[in-house]
Amino acid sequence: MRAAVYNGVPMADGSHLRMEDVPRPKLQPGHVLLKVIACGVCRTDLHIVEGDLPALRPKLIPGHQIVGEVMEGATDALPQGSRAGVSWMGGTDGDCWFCTHQMENLCDHPTFTGYTVDGGYAEYALVRSDFAFLLPEGLDAIHVAPLLCAGIIGFRSLRVAGVQPGERVGLFGFGSSATLAIPILQSWGCETYVVTRGAAHRATACALNAIWVGREEDRPPVELDRAITFAPVGKVIVDALSCLRKGGVVAINAIHLDQMPAFDYDKLLWGERQIRSVANMTRADAHDFLKLAQELKIQPKATTFKLEDANKALLAVKDETEHGSAVIVL
Ligand SMILES: [Zn+2]
Ligand SMILES: [Zn+2]
Repeated sequence: MRAAVYNGVPMADGSHLRMEDVPRPKLQPGHVLLKVIACGVCRTDLHIVEGDLPALRPKLIPGHQIVGEVMEGATDALPQGSRAGVSWMGGTDGDCWFCTHQMENLCDHPTFTGYTVDGGYAEYALVRSDFAFLLPEGLDAIHVAPLLCAGIIGFRSLRVAGVQPGERVGLFGFGSSATLAIPILQSWGCETYVVTRGAAHRATACALNAIWVGREEDRPPVELDRAITFAPVGKVIVDALSCLRKGGVVAINAIHLDQMPAFDYDKLLWGERQIRSVANMTRADAHDFLKLAQELKIQPKATTFKLEDANKALLAVKDETEHGSAVIVL
């Protein structure tokens, strides 16, 4: 099969992936073989190929927002020919302390799609059947792919932040995840305040009816109950913290941060304010979010790329040249 492969070092032209012919994966017990229809491109893919996350395999097919057709290994839950979605969490051991305490997102021995195992930048992907989700009707593959990580983990961020109906919620930094969180916040009657440096991102936030939109140096006119940060930049967490009411929470939606700057505890964190990271996702997050996405008809803006252009798709995410989600379509 054709695949876009990361070999651990940049290519001569500075790009990260090389098109290769690799063996099609063989069906394993407990798995399904998917014929990939679309695969969303996530900032985490960029962190992997740029070495922000340590390389765990000499050769890797990235991609963890996979929409595919069940070809082999069908189950009652995933019938032959049905459409399945696969996200970052590709499996857990099921028996560690975290798995047995409803925290499978923190499993001690996790499988991450497109990181510890091959992902969806290829014609076929082998995935664990208990971590593949039957996809709701009514959403086409291109528009459902970005929901599978950006959407689910954005949704988990709202949960980790403890967002309650009607609250004032700040979104700091703006990308695919934030655009998908706004309709959910609106359905809960929340007011959304967006702080982002990109003019195009500010325009998108306005178009999505955020109640207030500002530049990096601007601050919302009210104290926020919750804030979610989406940029991989520590300073943004401190910015968000400075906007919180007492008892408020900042949830960090980033697998990697440049670093966390020092900040004034007395002014910014005292008063039972909290900073929490958001790590991975549970299957319950995925099911709940996908149901909500169907009900709310969440339709992300997507730009498509051919598999051969996987490097261009990564670049679009890096340079934020697309104002929606980059999706590789096969
Ligand atoms: Zn576990
Ligand atoms: Zn992701």
